[in-house]
Amino acid sequence: MNADADAGTDTDAVTGPPDGMVDARDELTPMLSQYFDRCAEYEDALLLFQNGDFYQTYCDAAEEVARVCELTLTQREDSTGTYPMAGIPVDNAATYVERLLDAGYRIAVAEQVERPEAASGLVDRAVTQVITPGTVIDDELLGSGTKNYVAAVTREGRTRAVGAVDAATGECLVTSVDDEAGLYAELDRLAPAELLVGPDASVDLTALSVAPMVTDHEAAGMGSAAAAETLAAYVSRPDAVVAGDAERRACGAALAYAEWTQGDDGPLDYVTRIRRYDPREALGLDATAIRSLELFENRGTGASETLFDVLDDTACALGRRKLDGWLRRPLVDRERIEARLDAVDALTDAALARETIRDALHTVYDLERLAGRVSRGRADARDLRSLKATLDAVPDVLAGVDDVDGDAARLDELRERIDPVDDVRDLIERAIRPDPPVELTEGGVIREGFDGELDDLRATEREGRAWVAELEARERERTGIDSLSVGHTQVHGYYIEVTDPNLDRVPDDYTRRQTLKNAERFYTPALKRREDEILGAAERADTLEYERFCEVRESVAAETARLQAVADALAELDALATLAAVAVDRNYTRPAFHDGGIDIEAGRHPVVEATRDRFVPNDAALPPGSVSLVTGPNMSGKSTYMRQVALIVVLAQMGSFVPADAATLPVVDRVFTRVGASDDIAGGQSTFMREMTELTAILHEATPDSLVLLDEVGRGTSTADGRAIARATAEFLHDEVGATTLFATHYHDLTGLAEAYERVRNLHFAAERGGPRAGDGEGSEGPRGGGGRPATTGDGRPSAGGDVTFLHRVAEGPASSSYGVEVARMAGVPDPVVERSRALVEGVDEGTNGHDDGVQVTLDGVNAGGGPEVGDDAPDGGEKPGTVDLAATLRGTDLARTTPIEALNLLAELKDRVEES
Ligand code: ADP
Ligand code: MG
Repeated sequence: MNADADAGTDTDAVTGPPDGMVDARDELTPMLSQYFDRCAEYEDALLLFQNGDFYQTYCDAAEEVARVCELTLTQREDSTGTYPMAGIPVDNAATYVERLLDAGYRIAVAEQVERPEAASGLVDRAVTQVITPGTVIDDELLGSGTKNYVAAVTREGRTRAVGAVDAATGECLVTSVDDEAGLYAELDRLAPAELLVGPDASVDLTALSVAPMVTDHEAAGMGSAAAAETLAAYVSRPDAVVAGDAERRACGAALAYAEWTQGDDGPLDYVTRIRRYDPREALGLDATAIRSLELFENRGTGASETLFDVLDDTACALGRRKLDGWLRRPLVDRERIEARLDAVDALTDAALARETIRDALHTVYDLERLAGRVSRGRADARDLRSLKATLDAVPDVLAGVDDVDGDAARLDELRERIDPVDDVRDLIERAIRPDPPVELTEGGVIREGFDGELDDLRATEREGRAWVAELEARERERTGIDSLSVGHTQVHGYYIEVTDPNLDRVPDDYTRRQTLKNAERFYTPALKRREDEILGAAERADTLEYERFCEVRESVAAETARLQAVADALAELDALATLAAVAVDRNYTRPAFHDGGIDIEAGRHPVVEATRDRFVPNDAALPPGSVSLVTGPNMSGKSTYMRQVALIVVLAQMGSFVPADAATLPVVDRVFTRVGASDDIAGGQSTFMREMTELTAILHEATPDSLVLLDEVGRGTSTADGRAIARATAEFLHDEVGATTLFATHYHDLTGLAEAYERVRNLHFAAERGGPRAGDGEGSEGPRGGGGRPATTGDGRPSAGGDVTFLHRVAEGPASSSYGVEVARMAGVPDPVVERSRALVEGVDEGTNGHDDGVQVTLDGVNAGGGPEVGDDAPDGGEKPGTVDLAATLRGTDLARTTPIEALNLLAELKDRVEES
């Protein structure tokens, strides 16, 4: 996303006044001089300079545009020199603009603001829009499923404020967080495409999982006074909306910047509301949790889908963005959760009504963005028809809602809020033709009967044309020339054509207009009069149509707030109906809430179950504040189990039914996850430092109401250290934090904690010898390897070795201390090796050797027979001495994403390992 990272590109040369023109500055032609000035005005943007059908760029900018957009580089020559030039066709600029945005540029579009015919001399051009990643409004450049925010960050003491604007829909948000960690969590949730960082704030981009463009916009109204002024244009009493100076400045800056990018002619009318929210109103999901739970982004660790993919059966873009927002911010208020669940519940029971609603919503356009375009004066006639088609769907939607039985106050509220906006609908229906052209100034836009004057002009035009159409027959009769014809050319207008042999029969009132090879073209005074009449009427009508269109658009724009309200209600209804449909299709149940622990009966992992033929459900009974140690061989289902508990919590709190036979849950305040370094190699964050930083955050921030998942924590360092850290972490969580914790660990000796600590419990996943039992799907999938080689699952990783089957079933108690050896034995490893391994394990357990995983050497050996596996979920023998392990670590390290300090850590760690072995 960053131009600076692009090899060989000097952004500074590409933006700002063109270096190549500086010397000749005073002699430049008027047009290039204008180009130079506009470039200088928009210094940090790449300027596109309209010249007729092209947006031109010159000098370094031209070279860059040609390179990035793969366009031909040409030259412009004049008396002052020769300048490289590259042009982007105005008609399909969007694709090129997208490439330039991707290359890390802001783009200033300087359009011709007068018609060339109307201009006396040089056509004036002004920047009408600055396109930046965070302020894109063009549908072609926006994904439909997510909001696209520009966010501004300010600071006051420890408090950070964030203001955010979605320029396409006019949504404006403001919030405060207590500290830096809170800031990163909030930014990760908002996922802004662009960031404005106030002079007093700072943002460590490496702490974010999103990669916004950072814009240094002259501290865009970041001063208190400027911000107050900006805000005053939107709300009558800004202080009633924003809390404190930091919020005022953040919100003001985001709005001022959005205004600036939209051509800076005052407040954005479609920002009708500034919404302040408290991050604590939402279940805390930080970047790590969002990532490792694969809510939106697949990490290549298992299933190929994300939770959002599973849920997203929305009928329209409005609903898709709403659902996305819900998943990013599940609720923590029990009443609100229950209100959503009531609505989903009522909709699950109403199959027919639900289908009516969803069918109607399928015909809905992106009303939020349409309303934005209308308000910005950028909607064309087709947009208005789309808007009307959207409103047409509203009565069906309402009929559907009326048919839903059951008691859901939320649905009643939505019913009230969904206003068909009949006046707007009728206006568009009366005014705009059903299938209008894109061009607004060439007629064909306004319907007959809408405007008397326009109808008269069109009638004159029509009569004139009819008169001309009959002219041929009349003139043939009058002159007796059978071959006489009447026609029209763009340049010469109407004519009567007579071939050379007949010229002697041409009447006196014919005047010569044009000579062709074998014929002459004439006009008559009557034809000329008609022609002027037709042209005059057509031209006036075209202009009038455009004026009428603009008036209609303005009338619609005046209703922006109402349109946004309907859009929001439709969005919510789509999200609710989708959750209901998913619940029915996937057999989810309604969760219940109480003040106790997590209690899930036969829970499933929503994503894994969606991508597998068979899934083994598991219970989870986790008392409040309990620490459950989950042990079992690699690939036995530990990670899946822990994530499924968290996903069920997240789903429930967003108001969704959950994949389980029954679920009774507490309201959780935050979900923390930490996936051990070696399990997260795919993320390129395979350093122990990172692991410990995240662990620190968890230990500091988790509360007794939090859910903590620790997956193989402590693996990124030497065994002795790792075990010590894992143990200390478990103890601290138990004694000090009191959060409900699931801790998958390969440090088997941790299971001993259960005896010493009241709320520490052991759970394990076992493998068993022999074929799958009925209902245990795993063994029935994938090819069975012969000769003792492990079979692989569809995703190519070992699942069952020989006759070893993973039951994927959780059970009470710790796994057998030598489960690795057991698996090896079941896989058919020769007895002497098994015996020797067992002896070694026992040695380890007495602490004579740092490698409790020595047994896994054997298992790895078996795996290696089926092809070496190096990946995110590397076999549990990750700590075995030897070069394979080092090589795997090195291979899994993405040097391009490793900082020097991380590299040092890695080196130290590798050295440790070598010394230990
Ligand atoms: P572990 O963390 O113990 O190494 P994982 O949770 O990564 O194991 O699961 C290993 C494989 O088994 C994954 O491919 C996963 O899809 C599959 N799996 C896990 N749990 C189940 C289950 N309950 N039913 C069916 N397949 C499962
Ligand atoms: Mg795992």
